Amino acid sequence: MPRKGNLKLRCPICKKVVKSADPEFPFCSDRCRTIDLGKWASGAYVIPSPVADAEEQIRESMPEDENDS
Ligand SMILES: [Zn+2]
Repeated sequence: MPRKGNLKLRCPICKKVVKSADPEFPFCSDRCRTIDLGKWASGAYVIPSPVADAEEQIRESMPEDENDS
């Protein structure tokens, strides 16, 4: 990988190029940082995971075959 000094990424909100030296990195501005925080707060990134249900299903689907085939 070539070294080019500043790493550049795109703002996850508005897709504008942001340098790693930017004080708001990885966002291009305080505005985009606030928008991202708002997404977390509103649950936009939350993935539902019914752990208890999955555990039950695994137990039920355990094969009890000790048959020699
Ligand atoms: Zn932005």
